[in-house]
Amino acid sequence: MGATKWRIFTIAITGTCKNEGMPELPEVETARRLIADEALHRRITDVDDSDTFVCRPHSPGELRAALTGRTLTAARRRGKSMWCETSEDGPDLGIHLGMGGRILVTSADGRVAEGGGPRRRNAQRHKAEWDRFTLSFADGGSLVLFDQRRLGRVRLNPAIDALGPDAADVTPAEFRGLITRGSVAVKARLLDQSRIAGVGNLLADEILWQARVHPAARTDTLRPADADRLYRALESALKSAIARGGVHTGDVIAARHPGGTCPRCGAEMRHGTVGGRSTWWCSREQALAEGQAPTTVR
Ligand SMILES: [Zn+2]
Repeated sequence: MGATKWRIFTIAITGTCKNEGMPELPEVETARRLIADEALHRRITDVDDSDTFVCRPHSPGELRAALTGRTLTAARRRGKSMWCETSEDGPDLGIHLGMGGRILVTSADGRVAEGGGPRRRNAQRHKAEWDRFTLSFADGGSLVLFDQRRLGRVRLNPAIDALGPDAADVTPAEFRGLITRGSVAVKARLLDQSRIAGVGNLLADEILWQARVHPAARTDTLRPADADRLYRALESALKSAIARGGVHTGDVIAARHPGGTCPRCGAEMRHGTVGGRSTWWCSREQALAEGQAPTTVR
C-alpha cells in the first residue's frame, strides 16, 4: 500500500459518518477564545486529573503537580489542536476536544461560559461525571473539559509538529502548492491534517460546494483558478462558521441528505464516499471536468 493510499485508509478508519458533528477548526477556535477571554492569569490551586483515559499517558497527580501554583498565560491553536502556555516557563497544557468535548469556564461569581463542540439538541443536563478534567482557580472558579463521549484528551507538551499550517493562517501561495500537489482526490487532501490543519468532513464539503469543485477531482488536475476559488471558499467558510457558532451552520450542510437539493441552483445533491468519508455534492455545479476523475475511486 503506497503512502497516499495508506493515509486515505487511515482517515477512513478514524472517522465515521455518525461522527460528522465532531469539532472542527471553528468549534475549537470558540473554545480557544473562551479560554483566552475568561481563564488566563487566574492562579491554579487544584487539578482533577483522575481520569486516566483522558489524561493518558500521564498518571494521576502528574498534571496536578505540573500545573498547581501556575496560571495559564496564553491559549493557542493549530487546526483542531489547542494548548495553553503556563507561567514561570511551565509546560504547555494540551486540550483536545475529541468528538464533542466542550470547555466550561466558571468565573469567580459563578457565571458559566461555554465553548467547543456543538450542543446537541437533546443534550442532557450537565452531569458532573462527564467532567473529564478540571482546573480549580484561587478565585473559586474553574475550567472544565466536559465530554460525554470521553474521546477528548489532556496532555502536557502535546506534539503539534506533525500538523500542517493552520487552515485559518495558510497563505494563498502555500495553499495553492498543497492543494495541487500529488494525485489524490481533492477532498482527501483537504482532510489531510499533515498538509493543512483544521478542516474536517463538513467543512470540506462546504468549501468544495462553495468553490464548485467535485470532491473526487484529482489534485494534479486542478487549475490555478480552481485553487484560488478553493482558497477563497476556505476563508469565507471558516469566517462564517466561527461567526455563526460551528461548521453545522454552513450553507450546504442542511442539504446533505437523500432527496436534498442544492441551495444555490436547486439541482439534486449526490452522495458518495470520498477520502473514506461520507460526501455530498451538487450534481450540476460540481461536475467532474474532463480528465479530473481520480485514478481509483473510493
Ligand atoms: Zn448547485
